[in-house]
Amino acid sequence: MSTSTSTQIPHVVILGAGFGGVKALKETEGLPINVTLIDHNNYHLFQPLLYQAATSGITPFEIGYPIRKMLRDRKNARFVLGHVRDIDTANRKLITNKEDIPYDYLIVAPGAVTNFFGMESVAQHSFDLKDLPGTEELRVHLLRQFEAASRETDPVLRRRMLTVVVVGGGPTGVETAGAVSELYGDVLAKDYPNMPMDEMHIILVEALDRLLLMMPVELSENAAQVLRRKGVDVRFGKMVTGYDGETLTFKDGETLETNTLIWAAGARAEDVVDSLGGEQDRMNRIKVTPTLQLPGHPEVFVIGDAAHFEENGEALGMIAPVAMQQAELSIKNIMHLIRGESLEEFHFKDLGLMATIGRNAAVAQKGNIKMTGFMAWMAWLVIHLRSLVGFRNKLLVVINWFWQYLFVDRGVRIFGLRQDERDLVQVKEPVGE
Ligand SMILES: Cc1cc2nc3c(=O)[nH]c(=O)nc-3n(C[C@H](O)[C@H](O)[C@H](O)COP(=O)(O)OP(=O)(O)OC[C@H]3O[C@@H](n4cnc5c(N)ncnc54)[C@H](O)[C@@H]3O)c2cc1C
Repeated sequence: MSTSTSTQIPHVVILGAGFGGVKALKETEGLPINVTLIDHNNYHLFQPLLYQAATSGITPFEIGYPIRKMLRDRKNARFVLGHVRDIDTANRKLITNKEDIPYDYLIVAPGAVTNFFGMESVAQHSFDLKDLPGTEELRVHLLRQFEAASRETDPVLRRRMLTVVVVGGGPTGVETAGAVSELYGDVLAKDYPNMPMDEMHIILVEALDRLLLMMPVELSENAAQVLRRKGVDVRFGKMVTGYDGETLTFKDGETLETNTLIWAAGARAEDVVDSLGGEQDRMNRIKVTPTLQLPGHPEVFVIGDAAHFEENGEALGMIAPVAMQQAELSIKNIMHLIRGESLEEFHFKDLGLMATIGRNAAVAQKGNIKMTGFMAWMAWLVIHLRSLVGFRNKLLVVINWFWQYLFVDRGVRIFGLRQDERDLVQVKEPVGE
């Protein structure tokens, strides 16, 4: 496939193969353009199910899909595995770790990274849910803490091993806290019958006064009630100030002893957007025009988590439907530019919001319709399964969900000692195991 440097066919480059990038790629099928998709992973990741991979419900590989498979029958598209370091808008090229990639039109969709709000200690010692390697690390860590606790004779150390703190009362925090409580309370408790379960403590911490801020108050309250019924200690008005890997410190002076801090308290646009030179919001997102362009650069479109787009005076949230709908319009607008037509403005079609709280429980809202409990949970399962890319992935995930539902089990509970641990000589006596 050639680019515009060798032919007259316009070359469209898409940075990022996430929800926005992949949707944009699909929209270019059959169009008279050459397309290059670039990502530093060779897979598309379905982030909404990361928390299930972290809590042994599904394997990480079920939520990744190889990008090259998407391109198999595509004549006008190619994939480049590379990390974009810089976007040179003056010379219309991407600077990557390998090569420079020139473009006529660019869609910038690099998504977001975890926002630790400048707290280095938290960034260094906590876990987040953003990519597959980090999620796998968290999955093994959670299992290892339980295993270590089963051999620990000091109750203070044991409590710290069995205490998991999740920070952030948005959908990711709520879903993760619910899933950890099910993994520990319903599944691992059976594997370790002598574990003092009263020492297990799952805490969900939120700085504001309610969960799921984007949802109506009654759904927030429902989510908190369900979590509490599952044994999660939900705490409001708690602002984290630091964490050294063992002690978590709050602004009000309180401290908590835990070996596991899961940070789900915020996101900010990927750093590469800084090189665009546009105006940015406090989440690092680039402020785009109503037609999704970078001001001053009509050939550059910024979408998804990387873009700040205001509707009715408020910036749209960092959610997948925003990225996908913006991708669709960006391709339309690029074709308008190529054909010399006028551009269309973006209007978000609200598909509703939902969050699952664990087995049989979720909250969902679309317009005036609000759902809780089993029905919301079923709706959540169907919508997420439908959105997952790849038939094989859908099948494996659905098998795992059935298994979990029928047997109250989470199958992905395997790990081994690290090489450095195999050499340790001192072994403590197990506690009644
Ligand atoms: C744990 C979690 C749960 C979520 N749950 C939901 C949910 O239930 N519902 C919902 O609607 N939204 C959910 N979201 C948000 C949703 O995933 C994002 O809004 C969506 O992924 C944004 O799409 P995007 O295309 O902008 O970015 P992404 O989907 O993040 O894709 C960005 C892509 O760019 C690549 N990339 C980044 N930087 C570079 C670079 N410099 N060079 C090369 N490649 C790069 C990345 O590898 C990635 O493939 C969740 C997010 C997380 C983290």
